[in-house]
Amino acid sequence: MTTQTFFPVAQNHHKAFGSLSVPKRLLLGPGPSNANPEVLQALAFPPVGHLDPFYVHLMGEVQELLRYAWQTDNRLTLPMSGTGSAAMEATIANSVEVGDKVLVAIKGYFGHRLADMADRYKAEVKTIGKSWGEAFTLEEIELALIKHRPSIFALVHAETSTGVCQPMDGIGDLCRKYDCLLLLDTVTSLGGVPLFLDSWGVDLAYSCSQKGLSCPPGLGPFTISPRAEEKLHARKGKVPNWYLDVSLLNKYWGSDRVYHHTAPVNMNFGIREALRLLSEEGLENAWNRHKMNAERLWSGLDSLGIQMLVDEDLRLPTLTTVCIPEGIDGKAFTMHLLNNHGIEIGGGLGDLAGKVWRIGLMGYNSTQENVDTLLNLFDTELPTFRSKTSSAA
Ligand SMILES: *Cc1c(COP(=O)(O)O)cnc(C)c1O
Repeated sequence: MTTQTFFPVAQNHHKAFGSLSVPKRLLLGPGPSNANPEVLQALAFPPVGHLDPFYVHLMGEVQELLRYAWQTDNRLTLPMSGTGSAAMEATIANSVEVGDKVLVAIKGYFGHRLADMADRYKAEVKTIGKSWGEAFTLEEIELALIKHRPSIFALVHAETSTGVCQPMDGIGDLCRKYDCLLLLDTVTSLGGVPLFLDSWGVDLAYSCSQKGLSCPPGLGPFTISPRAEEKLHARKGKVPNWYLDVSLLNKYWGSDRVYHHTAPVNMNFGIREALRLLSEEGLENAWNRHKMNAERLWSGLDSLGIQMLVDEDLRLPTLTTVCIPEGIDGKAFTMHLLNNHGIEIGGGLGDLAGKVWRIGLMGYNSTQENVDTLLNLFDTELPTFRSKTSSAA
């Protein structure tokens, strides 16, 4: 008979915390955006089993809604259990074999993350760069494809670190001409910016739940074209990441319904509602709403004499990078907005740290009212702030 020794229960981490209460915030930064209240209601339903026929049916609805949102017929379209970065890693893990040449077009923070991931999966990574705030031209892309002849070309559609929307015309054709797969980050475009994955010839794409879809963070939509599936099936070895292996995941999301991992069922309730609300509004309407509210923000900032980083024709409707005016402590103003008005805007990342604010108008938050609230604060409180900070300095 074995015995189990009991010890006096240590009390040093035994704290009497009150029950949770969360401050009200208006999230106008680079993400997350506020969740739609209908999505929050869906999240609060009691969970069901991940193989319950009700849930299995819901999975099919999520996949169909995602295909609509992305404008793709890809069979293998599903939300990864994880955030956008998990889905990003899934595109790399499933498509890259050791020694594959991967060309990454880097024009901001998230391009670097793609290159880092491809390197970790032992690709031979090549990069082309553009300064933060610019987009690649078709000529630059073609020259790089000719020079490097990669098997995968990866780029970010909506670069959240800079506010640039990469024009997509012709890129898919080049990837076919030079026989490589096209991998596209659509994290800050899905739901807010026109996306036509199949017409653009995109082979691998991913997104997240918490930006344009206005569901809390936790799921990473992923899709792979038949062309990229062929590369996956021809792999010499296993996908080196068990959790993100779509050939295993497809046994659960496809017709077999074999257990892979316990799906975060409530998150899928949430994204189902988020995607349903998007399809109810209609993609064209959602895209137009984002465009109109962004233009309202841009013209309001213009009339306040505040500059934006990106040329208007390349600006993202979901995220605007605003140049911090001379003499203003950008960080102090964002803290003021958060502490005194409950409004979150973002600061700059990487090359743009301390130089820009990042204002997100994503999904549920892209409204005229939110734009006007923020413009009013820039109008009335930014000047007082300037005198406060410059007299203090
Ligand atoms: C937010 C973001 C990601 C990462 O998504 P997470 O949900 O934070 O993991 C990747 N790419 C871009 C362009 C993003 O904006």
